[in-house]
Amino acid sequence: MKQIQIGGLVSFTTIDYPGKLAAVLFLKGCPLNCKYCSNPHLIPLGEGEYDPEKVFDWLRARVGKLEGVVFSGGEALMQADATIEYMKRVHDLGFAIGLHTNGFYPDLLKKVNDTVDWIGLDFKATREHYHDLTGIDVAYDRMIESLKYWVSTGHGLEVRTTCDPRFVSKTDLLEIAQTASCMGAKNFAVQKYTPYHECECHETSAADREQFFNDEELKKNIESLFNTVVWRNN
Ligand code: SF4
Repeated sequence: MKQIQIGGLVSFTTIDYPGKLAAVLFLKGCPLNCKYCSNPHLIPLGEGEYDPEKVFDWLRARVGKLEGVVFSGGEALMQADATIEYMKRVHDLGFAIGLHTNGFYPDLLKKVNDTVDWIGLDFKATREHYHDLTGIDVAYDRMIESLKYWVSTGHGLEVRTTCDPRFVSKTDLLEIAQTASCMGAKNFAVQKYTPYHECECHETSAADREQFFNDEELKKNIESLFNTVVWRNN
């Protein structure tokens, strides 16, 4: 089997896995090409920058010091069996496993049901704007299928929307929240869009990007739909 390709690592975080001290592994490869991507170097599949066995040894030395390991990307499930096998090994060390995913691989999500304890699922836009944002036709339907499946597992779930005003309006954000809530999601996060410094196409103003966070009516409406809503305004 091909080795897992790791393109980045955060050794300690309190914000990437709710309620847990965790490390984050950023895996190479993503099937989408989001116009706001802040990790474009991770989109191509290719050689990783870390030796997976050295990372595994390092994780083993963190047993008892960290509670969880988050697989992020890129899209961690794009490496399919290599990711799944590595996740299981890390899980066997005793870590809770988190996954940040764009939901593009619902069938692979089913394969990690017994290994992954929590996912942060990107619900990037309404169906109307999904293709514009991601460049891929089927991305919305696959994400919805993933959401439906993961809700059915009863495992931990946060649905998150990054509010890039080029692709998401305040009306869209409420529609996204209503759709996620109707499908059974209990936890939602609204994330501020921060332009990637090398991108030349962020024709948005600070006020455009802030509008989702200073509308009290919108906040009240969204918060009424979920058990928890996190506003990530930085
Ligand atoms: S899903 Fe994430 S990693 Fe993939 S292109 Fe979109 S923003 Fe970048």
